[in-house]
Amino acid sequence: MAELEGLEFGKSDFVLLDEVNMEQFMENLQLRFEKGRIYTFIGEVVVSVNPYKQMDIYGKVAIEAYRGRELYENPPHLYAVADAAYKAMKRRAKDTCIVISGESGAGKTEASKYIMQYIAAITNPNQREEVESVKNVLLKSNCVLEAFGNAKTNRNDNSSRFGKYMDINFNFNGDPTGGHINNYLLEKSRVVQQHAGERNFHSFYQLLRGGTDDMLSNLHLQRNPEAYVYSKEGASVITGFNDGSLHKAVLSAMKVIGFTSEEISSIYKIIATILLLGNLEFECDGEIVQLPGAGSVSHVAELTGTEPETVSKALLYRTVATGGGEVIEKGHNKLEACFGRDAFAKALYERLFAWIVGRINTVIEVKNYNPALHGKNTVIGVLDIYGFEIFDNNSFEQFCINYCNEKLQQLFIELILQQEQEEYHREGITWQHIEYFNNQIIVDLVEQLHKGIISILDEACLTVGKVTDTVCLETMNTKLGQHPHFTSRKHCPTDKTMDFQRHFRIRHYAGDVTYSIEGFLDKNKDPLFQDFKRLMYNSADPVLKEMWPDGQLSITEVTKRPLTAATLFKNSIIALVENLACKEPYYVRCIKPNDVKSPVLFDDARCRHQVAYLGLLENVRVRRAGFAYRQPYARFLQRYKMTCEYTWPNHLMDTDREAVEAIVTQHGFEGDVAYGHTKLFVRTPRSLFTLEQERAALI
Ligand code: ADP
Ligand code: MG
Repeated sequence: MAELEGLEFGKSDFVLLDEVNMEQFMENLQLRFEKGRIYTFIGEVVVSVNPYKQMDIYGKVAIEAYRGRELYENPPHLYAVADAAYKAMKRRAKDTCIVISGESGAGKTEASKYIMQYIAAITNPNQREEVESVKNVLLKSNCVLEAFGNAKTNRNDNSSRFGKYMDINFNFNGDPTGGHINNYLLEKSRVVQQHAGERNFHSFYQLLRGGTDDMLSNLHLQRNPEAYVYSKEGASVITGFNDGSLHKAVLSAMKVIGFTSEEISSIYKIIATILLLGNLEFECDGEIVQLPGAGSVSHVAELTGTEPETVSKALLYRTVATGGGEVIEKGHNKLEACFGRDAFAKALYERLFAWIVGRINTVIEVKNYNPALHGKNTVIGVLDIYGFEIFDNNSFEQFCINYCNEKLQQLFIELILQQEQEEYHREGITWQHIEYFNNQIIVDLVEQLHKGIISILDEACLTVGKVTDTVCLETMNTKLGQHPHFTSRKHCPTDKTMDFQRHFRIRHYAGDVTYSIEGFLDKNKDPLFQDFKRLMYNSADPVLKEMWPDGQLSITEVTKRPLTAATLFKNSIIALVENLACKEPYYVRCIKPNDVKSPVLFDDARCRHQVAYLGLLENVRVRRAGFAYRQPYARFLQRYKMTCEYTWPNHLMDTDREAVEAIVTQHGFEGDVAYGHTKLFVRTPRSLFTLEQERAALI
C-alpha cells in the first residue's frame, strides 16, 4: 500500500475505501484523475487512467525516487511496479511478468514503454558495452514494431494492431542480456480495407511520404497515398504524425538493430508490392478474367524477383488436384480473382511482420549464456495486449480478442487469489475462502474440444461443400442453446435486439457481446491459394523466399486440413497463459477516461464500465477479504511510533513486533489485526486512519 498522501488527492490505494462499492470506487478514481494523480494501487496492482497530456512524473528524478524502494514507500506509479518486478527477479531469482491490460487507447503501450525505460535506466550501472547494446536494441525495437504493427484508428491515433509479449532476460547481476518478442494476431484485414476515418498501417504512409525520390521511383511508387486503393482512405487524415520524419527514424532504428541494407530494401519492396497489387483491376471477357494493367504486373514481378507471366498466372488461375490425382488449372471468376489478390496482399504483410519480429529476435536472443558460469538466467515478461472489445458490429477479430481476455482474466483471478493465499501461509495466518466468479465456464464455451464454438467453426470450415455462415450459426444454436452464457433463440425468442439468422451473443465476464456471424468462416479458414505461396517461394529475393517455406509443397502435397485461424490463435494464447502462469505476475490496469482524448473529461459511464469489466471491485474485495493492509513490523513502527508512550520517544520493547503490539493495544484495535511472522495485517482501513490522523496531529 502506498504511503498515505494527503487525502485531498483521494486514497492512493483502493483497499482504503471506507466501503467497497462502485460509488466510492468511482468517486476516488475521478478525484485522483482530476488532481493529476493518474495512478492508484489496489495492493500491488496499479490502476492507471490515461491523462491525455504530458505528465511531469517520468524521467531521471522520478526514476531515482523509485529505484530499489518498497512499493508502499512512494505514491503509486508504473515505476513502483516495474521496480517490484525487478527486485523480485533480482533478489529472489524469480521470473516475473507485468501484464498490462485495458481497452484500445487506455495507455497500455505507453505504459509498457515507460516500464522498459525504467528497467533500462536502473540496469548496467557500469555501462558495459554489450549490455548497453542489448538495451538499445530492445528500446529501438519499439519504433520498428510500431511502424509496421500500429495504425491510426478512430479510438487511438497510434493503435497497436497486434498483441505483444516481450521477455527480457537478465544475468545474475540483474543486467539485460537479451530478450524475445512474441506477436499475436496482427489485424491483417486492415491491409486491404479500413473503416472510414482510419488508416492502413503507418509503414505505408511513412514510405510514401518519407522515402526519397530515388527510392520511390525504384519502387515504382507515386508519393501520394491517395493514388492507392489500399492507402487512400487514410490519405487525407491529419494525424499529428510526421510520417516523413518517422520513416527516417525507423530506417535508422533498423540499422541500429542490425538489419542489412538488402533486408531493408526487401522490406520496402514488399510494401510497394502490396500497394501495387491493390491497384490491379480484373476485367471480364465473358467468363475469362484478364489483367489489363500489364505494366503493374511487371512491376510486381520486378519487386518480388519473379516473372511477369507467373505473377499473372497466380492472379488468374489456381491449381487444383482432382479426385483422381490429376492436377488442373482452373481460371478464376472476377470475384475469386479479387479475393485471391486481397488474401495475397494480407498474407504478404502478415508474413513480413512476423519476419521482422523474428529478425529482431535473432539479434536479441541470449547468446553464449552458461548458467554454470553466469548464474541463473532470469526473465521479466511484459505483456501489452488488446483489451476487451465491444463494438457496434463485432466480428471474428473481437471474438478472438475477447476470448483472449477471458483467459487472462481467469489467470488474474487465480493468481491474485493464489498470491494472497501464499502470503497468508508464509506469515502463518489462517486463510478464509473468498467467493468470486470463475469464468472457466465461458472459456469452455469457446475452447472446449468437440463442443466449443471454435470446434464448431473448425468443423464447418473443414466440411467439404458449402457450409455457409448461417448454417454454422444454426449448428451453434442447436449445440449450445442450453449454455447459460450463450444466447440463442431458445433462451429469448422475443429479444428484438438480435437477429437469430445473423447474430449470436456471448455473456462474457465483462458484459454481453453480440457477434455477427458474417465472414466468420472465411476469416477462420483464411484461405490463400497455393499458387501464391509457390510464386513467393520461387522468388529470386532470398528475404522474401525465406518468408514462404510452405511454398515448396506442390498442390498434391498440401495438407487438406490446415489449422484454422481460431485454432492457431487458441494455441498461441494457451501457450501464453502457461508461460505467464509460471511467473510472478504484476498488473497494470489501464482505463480510458473518455472517447475524445480530453485531458480534463472524466466520462463516468465509460469509466464505470471499464472498472466493472476489468474486475477491479472484485480485486479490491479479494485484497480486503482477509486484510486490507499489511506492513513489516519495523516499517509500521517507524511510521507510527510517535503515537504510543511505550515506543516514543524510546522503544522500550524487546522486539519490533512487541512494540507494534503496544501501539495496536493502546489504540484499541486488537480485534482488527493479525500478527504474521514478519508483518502486521490490518483488516479494515479505518484503524489505520485513526493512526494516520493521530500521527498527522503530532508531527
Ligand atoms: P493503448 O496501447 O492502450 O491502445 P496507447 O498507449 O497507445 O494506448 O495510448 C494512447 C494515447 O494516449 C497515446 O498516444 C498518448 O497520446 C496518450 N497517453 C497514454 N498514456 C499516456 C501517459 N502516461 N502520458 C501521456 N499521454 C498518454
Ligand atoms: Mg497499444
